[in-house]
Parts: sequence; structure tokens; C-alpha cells
Amino acid sequence: MSTGEPGVILKDLAIVLRVAPVSNTSRMVQWYTQSHGKIATLIKGAQRPKSPFLGQFDLFYTCELLFYARERNHIHYARECAPLERRDRFRIDWRAAAAASYCADAVARLTLPDAPQPALYHLLTMTLNEFATAGAAEAVVYWFELKLLTALGVQPRLDSCLDCGAPLLPAARPPVFTLERGGLVCAACAARGAAGEPCAPEALAMLAGWQAAGSPRAARRTHCTLRQLSAMDTLLGRFLHTHLDQLLVSRAIALSLLRRPDAA
Ligand SMILES: [Zn+2]
Repeated sequence: MSTGEPGVILKDLAIVLRVAPVSNTSRMVQWYTQSHGKIATLIKGAQRPKSPFLGQFDLFYTCELLFYARERNHIHYARECAPLERRDRFRIDWRAAAAASYCADAVARLTLPDAPQPALYHLLTMTLNEFATAGAAEAVVYWFELKLLTALGVQPRLDSCLDCGAPLLPAARPPVFTLERGGLVCAACAARGAAGEPCAPEALAMLAGWQAAGSPRAARRTHCTLRQLSAMDTLLGRFLHTHLDQLLVSRAIALSLLRRPDAA
């Protein structure tokens, strides 16, 4: 194939993760797609008044995207796109936009190009829909993080002891949490010298419940005190830092925006 040929044409559902200018009118768009994972497309002349792309994509939209696949440098060529879900709340609700930005940034940073992970597409869709319909919520951010860790295969093990394998029952003596090993050690093993730090039982119950919950609504409905949310923030923040290759700077920014009171 010569370099001038467009390549195979593909169709997919795609969420806009990032939009970057490459000239006054052209844009590089990073998408998370249902069937092709994270992809980047160049859209030439996207901002020209007569461009068929004008108004058809923006951050956090889900679009039907037609693109020419190019193998050489992971930058594909968009042919057309049409918005299916615009999620207009993100243009007027800055807290919701901050939460969405963090989740999109996490997916963008923690995935390889052109590596399909339909579970991640589904997770991002559910999370964006939740923020777009009901607004931002810290608990939903933590639910997303737990599900993201599961999708990436590094979820905290919260149901059984890492040493003896015994199930961890709520009525038993509290287990200890070991960050490096990514889970819990039962009180009996901890007493025999397994390293770990104490972890509040209600925080563990919340984490385990949200890890098992199929929808972000369960997290939103959980009654959490500010102290409990702060414990989640610390625990999950340290876990992400220990078990992921990327430092997610956007996390602290998003969480501080979520907690900022409204301007009077
Ligand atoms: Zn044990």
C-alpha cells in the first residue's frame, strides 16, 4: 500500500477524551472506542465554517465515528462523525466537568493505543452518563476508580486474606490493609506478623460494596461522612499511586474542585 492510500474504513462508537489543535482549523482528537480501544484521529479543517465535522464532536460526546485505519503511527483519519450523546451538562456544570475530565484523563493515560477493552468503554460510558444526569459526586469518582482498577487487572483484594485465603467476614476482627500486596490480611495472620496497617471496617465495607456494585448509583446512594470520603480519597489515592505506572495529577485537581464551595 502506498502512503497516499487511505486504508481500511471502520465504524465504531467513540467517546471524545481529548481535543488538541494542530493548526487554526485542524484538530487531533483522542477517542475511546467500543471495539478499537483508544484511538487518535486527525480531523483536517474541523473548524472551517463548512466542515462536515463542525459541531459534530466535543469533549465527552459519544459519536458514531467512521475512520480510515492507519497502522503506521497510530494516527487514523476521521471520515465522518455524528453525535449520539452530547452530555450538555458538562458545558454548564463545572463540578461535573471536572469529574468527567479526571475519568477521561485516567482512561487516556492508562491505556495503550489500538488495544480494545470493551469493559473500559462501558465503564466510561456509565460514569459519564452518571455525571451528566445527576452531577458530580466524590463517591462516584471512587466507584469509577475501583472499577478501573478491576478493568486493568490490579483491583484490591478485599474479600479474602492474602496469606491464608480465609474469607473476611464483617463480624470478624478487623483485617489489616497491605498497600504493596494490594489487599487485606486477616487479624489472625496479622497477629502472626504479616505487615499491614489498620483500616476502618466501615471504609472497607464501602470499598467492597462499591467494588461489587454494577452501577455508580449504588455509590451515590451510600451515606458517607466527610471523614469517610477523606479516608477513601487517601486509601484509593495511595493504591493508585502504588499499582499504576502513571501519576494521575488530574485526580487531586478534580477532587479539590468537587469539594470547593459554590461562589457566593
Ligand atoms: Zn489470614
